[in-house]
Amino acid sequence: MTLKDFEFEDLEQRFPDDASCLEWLRIHLYPNGVFCKLCQRITKHHYTASRRSYSCDHCGHHVHPTAGTIFHKSSTSLRTWFHAIHLMACTGGEVSAKQIERETGVTYKTAWRMFKHIRTLFDEDPDIARRGTPGPETGPSGASLSYGRYRYEQRPGVLGS
Ligand SMILES: [Zn+2]
Repeated sequence: MTLKDFEFEDLEQRFPDDASCLEWLRIHLYPNGVFCKLCQRITKHHYTASRRSYSCDHCGHHVHPTAGTIFHKSSTSLRTWFHAIHLMACTGGEVSAKQIERETGVTYKTAWRMFKHIRTLFDEDPDIARRGTPGPETGPSGASLSYGRYRYEQRPGVLGS
């Protein structure tokens, strides 16, 4: 299952809000559970909406699944990001920032910034939008997102401010 196989309506259903996007990131990035630095082991974590994070049930330490990804420090909702990635993957990156602005309802400036970030991922690996993910449970665009995380950590300058 890749992102392109999803109809827009399916994507909307699968990711109705930021919590579902973050949950998907969590499952994808920490398939074996979330490791707590303070407890020094994998512990149960619960979602903290206000901080876009998960908090350790034992000590309260926060883990941010968006750290090191293209979503890091972005005030744009994850839902909008997922929507934009879906758009770009479905069109093979041949969608304009103007179209992203129109489809997602963000400002042109925000659309352009998302466009640049997503485009960079696609440019660095043209197969990225086609690459399969383990299954519907890990969700669409998994490869793209983890790849983005990887590239971001390798080349932090690429994604700008
Ligand atoms: Zn802990």
